[in-house]
Amino acid sequence: MGLPCPSKRSIDILKNSIPENIIDEIRDRTDIVAVISEHVVLKQAGKNFKGLCPFHSEKTPSFSVSPEKRIYHCFGCGAGGNAYKFLMETQSISFPDAIKLLAERTGIPLPRNTSGHAQDPQQKEREALRKLNESATRYFQSLLKNPEGGLSARNYLSSRHFDSEILDRYRIGWAAPTWRGLLNHVQQNSSVSVERLVKSGLVIQKEGDGSTVYDRFRGRVLFPIKDLHGNIIGFGGRSIIEGENPKYLNSPETLLYQKSETLFGIDQAKQAIRKENEVILVEGYFDQMRAVQHGIEHVVATCGTALTAKQAGMLRNHAETAILVFDSDPAGRAATEKGFDILLEYGLNVKVVVLPDGQDPDSFIQEQGAENFLEKIRNAKPFIESYIDALIQETPGKTPADRVKMANQILPLLAKIKNNVERTAWLEAFTSKTGIDDLTFLKELKKTFAQNQTRLAETDNVSASLFNLEKHLVHLILSDKETAEAILMEINPEDFSDPTLKTIAQTCRQKIEADEDLKLDQLLDQTDDPEVRNTLSRLGLEPVEFDTPERTIKECVGKFKNIHIKSKIKDLKLQRLQAAKAGQIERSQELQAQLHEMHLALTH
Ligand SMILES: [Zn+2]
Repeated sequence: MGLPCPSKRSIDILKNSIPENIIDEIRDRTDIVAVISEHVVLKQAGKNFKGLCPFHSEKTPSFSVSPEKRIYHCFGCGAGGNAYKFLMETQSISFPDAIKLLAERTGIPLPRNTSGHAQDPQQKEREALRKLNESATRYFQSLLKNPEGGLSARNYLSSRHFDSEILDRYRIGWAAPTWRGLLNHVQQNSSVSVERLVKSGLVIQKEGDGSTVYDRFRGRVLFPIKDLHGNIIGFGGRSIIEGENPKYLNSPETLLYQKSETLFGIDQAKQAIRKENEVILVEGYFDQMRAVQHGIEHVVATCGTALTAKQAGMLRNHAETAILVFDSDPAGRAATEKGFDILLEYGLNVKVVVLPDGQDPDSFIQEQGAENFLEKIRNAKPFIESYIDALIQETPGKTPADRVKMANQILPLLAKIKNNVERTAWLEAFTSKTGIDDLTFLKELKKTFAQNQTRLAETDNVSASLFNLEKHLVHLILSDKETAEAILMEINPEDFSDPTLKTIAQTCRQKIEADEDLKLDQLLDQTDDPEVRNTLSRLGLEPVEFDTPERTIKECVGKFKNIHIKSKIKDLKLQRLQAAKAGQIERSQELQAQLHEMHLALTH
């Protein structure tokens, strides 16, 4: 799904040479309870089955399976999907392989040669780029292993204490310091066009001179960057000459590679992250690999970018706690602070490990060993605590001006903590640590804070209620086709503000327009966005709480419309004011008429 919205890319592994009707038939005929029972002990609970989630550790079952809807969802960790997805996740197999497994199980024969199946051109292009990346990786790996050509790179890597086992596992390669090494290799061995090579980011086309092309990566050790499923989507290149600029050179953004959606190591780390219900975030490729080399598997690297909402969303689907390990310098701290904001927004517990000056996880683990690193992880301080400690360290003076300065830095962070008890506890920790025993000052702090909080609480409530309303609408849409039609005739999915719910609503609208059924288990096959998938499975398994559908629909649709009309009214008022200020009388009257209509459209 997700075709209408470019930020939600549809998955290409899902489209393949097997016709969709056969994929549907196999799914329909598969007994999902039987498939999952081979991995999880399930007990019947009403219409559904419950068990301990295989994707995160838990003591009370929050994993549900609906034989009726043919989906599963875990209310603990958010994992969800259909029978195909379950096999892909538990056995780490591809979608086509999951189809083959269930085809055998259900006895439905797969067509032998079905390559005539029409493919979306974008998906075809992605598939081609992936193949190209795969063969480039093999080429770079062979260069690293070349007895003479790869010697300097191998020397560099062994000076950093990486053995061949870990290099093979990560498929580390070497781009020789030549201008057309990869280019010649590809052109001699395949029919890949120059245009596609340029699109892949592996080759650069000289500006203004289309005929001059050359390799992007030259004289660099290459780290293949993979997506959640282990497909190679881009490369990170590290110069092996100290002092060369830039030290790191990455693939540009391509159809496959979006920096803001990528976390280095996530493909291999995801199972461990689920098991530990915790993810360790480090900065660099070497940091991540070093941890893994020492048996610490639940680690991913951000690779020099500030954490994005997409990345936080990805992590939230796998763990409840994120531990940030960053450098102790001010730049590192700024990055941590930014990461904290986003992770907190996504409901993760955030802890921080600060390493001794000048150390990163790579050097720390090498010098002090994995056990000492894990000890630091176990003793990770909650983010706020470590932030307060750093502030105090940086502000030795305790003049009134110093205290105000510190308070001003800490208050905006405290305001983001939604739990009142927790927030007050941190405020008290802050005042006691800073030695503020001045009651007037403390009172002042609490007052500022209280004012700040009321304002925050209001905005939070508005967005929370809008989110709940949108969720409720999507829940209704998914409950049956007639309801979906009734709702989608009245409202425009484009008006949804939550991107995940918008994607689902848009897809449902398309299906209805094409007169197709809205089947949850089928919708689940049409997305690779974990948030869309988890929302779908959750809504599928959450009980539906409306007994008078018609009235509920009317109420929800009315509320939804009102919210959008109100925001349009606000917008129009602003425009009218601007028009009036600029002396555009006609325009102002026109806007006034529009405003009048909007007011009439409001239902009360
Ligand atoms: Zn779970």
